[in-house]
Amino acid sequence: MKKGLLIILSGPSGVGKGTVRKEIMSRHKLQLDYSISMTTREPRAKETDGVDYYFVSEEQFKENIAKGNFLEWAEFVGHYYGTPKDKVEALRNMGRNVFLEIEINGATQVMEQVKDPGVVSIFLMPPSIDALEKRIRKRKSESEDIIQERLTKGEKEMSMTKNYDYVVLNDRIERAADEIISILLKKVQENK
Ligand code: 5GP
Repeated sequence: MKKGLLIILSGPSGVGKGTVRKEIMSRHKLQLDYSISMTTREPRAKETDGVDYYFVSEEQFKENIAKGNFLEWAEFVGHYYGTPKDKVEALRNMGRNVFLEIEINGATQVMEQVKDPGVVSIFLMPPSIDALEKRIRKRKSESEDIIQERLTKGEKEMSMTKNYDYVVLNDRIERAADEIISILLKKVQENK
């Protein structure tokens, strides 16, 4: 059986990766398996353990690092985030297409480590830094310091598009999702 795709959706925090990802998965055009990450940050209102993330303590996270359980992991604005490795591999070996929605350091690690032709990397670009700020503020979940840190990071990250196979502008969620779906449909076809 042909190995499934490993799809990486990355971009600055607040660009709308989560919203675009949910839109793509809700269309059911593609059979994608979302890889649920592990994190040490507190759940936001409406977030569910085992659905949005596996919420763990720093000790548990570090234990997983030590055991080599992550495909990639990164520290992002004071918290750890990582992709559990075994599940991704097992699903791809079953021919399933696995979808990662991760920040930029983690995406770089995956692109450096996993070199097979099934890897598809997409950078989601905000229309402007103002748009990024609006989105982060709308979430009302972070202190001013953290918002500033996320924005400074976001500005730097917007220049890191060259390592990606595709750059998609998130001007409108539905349009960005449509563009990503057509990229992925083509890739799925090529991977057959
Ligand atoms: P948030 O706290 O807003 O949910 O996530 C912060 C950032 O971490 C976002 O850019 C999100 O995409 C990213 N992220 C989520 N899961 C992972 C992961 O497993 N690995 C990495 N490297 N980043 C992740």
